[in-house]
Amino acid sequence: MTLTVFFSAPAVWEEYRDLLPGLLAEAGIDARVVTEASDPAVVDYIIYAPSAPLQDFTPFTRCKAVLSLWAGVERIVGNQTLTQPLCRMVDNGLTEGMVEWVVGHALRHHLGMDRHIVNPGHVWDATCPPLARERKVAMLGMGALGTACARALAALNFNVVGWSRTEKTTPGIQAFHGEAGLEAALRGADIVVTLLPKTPETENILNAARLSWLKPGAFILNPGRGPLIDDAALLAALDSGQIGHATLDVFRIEPLPQDHPFWSHPRVTVTPHIAADTRATGAAKVLVENIRRSEAGEPLLHLVDRARGY
Ligand code: NDP
Repeated sequence: MTLTVFFSAPAVWEEYRDLLPGLLAEAGIDARVVTEASDPAVVDYIIYAPSAPLQDFTPFTRCKAVLSLWAGVERIVGNQTLTQPLCRMVDNGLTEGMVEWVVGHALRHHLGMDRHIVNPGHVWDATCPPLARERKVAMLGMGALGTACARALAALNFNVVGWSRTEKTTPGIQAFHGEAGLEAALRGADIVVTLLPKTPETENILNAARLSWLKPGAFILNPGRGPLIDDAALLAALDSGQIGHATLDVFRIEPLPQDHPFWSHPRVTVTPHIAADTRATGAAKVLVENIRRSEAGEPLLHLVDRARGY
């Protein structure tokens, strides 16, 4: 029987239009891809993005899985009408993009590039930056993205420590986990990268007390989610000098409102949620592989734990 795959993200359909049907056919899957669910009861799989969110999954009575195009699933994970398995996106393009963003911004701060790029007074300041091995980087979140970024920074000799919910072993990276490990991970860190999902447990994880554990003048990179950081505590820590600079890609409200103090703060860099994008070429293969697995009765890739929230 021909499967019906509902692609519910019109904004990015153009990128997938020529890819998905061919990849489904190559995988031996007899499927038609539709962009309108005029009869939800015949839909077998939903491809989902939060930019055009489906609110009510109740009419999709035959749907076997919902496949997210995004890695972060905080906007769908608590949806009570969703009873089907939910898979998030893990793909090489997303990971490579995140590694490039994190490494680029970490090196900017590590090397103190700004003072040479913007130097209207032509100041000859010959202070050499320390070596990467002298900088402690705390990677909060050691999942698909955090682990890849930690490895890339460790390859540049940064002294990287990782922090996750459960115990993890990553060669070359000192690992901490759970509430008890957070202080050890953060204490004395020069750079903190937040690559955690937004869940009730991670909201405001970087609060005033934890920011005070970092080395004075530390740098924050947040490509995870806006609510991971207490905005008011961050602004206070920036004003006191405890935090030297914050480079933020994600915010509680996006686009970041024009009157938000982050826009005009001299030690905040705002990037507009561009750290890593899902690339259709890799993502389409992940989607097709999950449909193949589901049809074959095999375990799905990147299944979200609804109770855990990620
Ligand atoms: P994963 O699910 O692979 O990894 C999440 C990590 O966070 C895991 O190591 C997990 O621990 C850890 N974690 C979760 N909850 C806690 C907790 N309460 N305490 C300690 N550690 C915790 O996610 P990804 O790496 O794929 O993505 C991370 C996030 O990055 C996404 O959720 C999304 O918000 C963001 N993102 C941002 C993008 C952007 O462009 N700015 C693009 C893509 C993603 P454990 O390993 O023990 O489970």
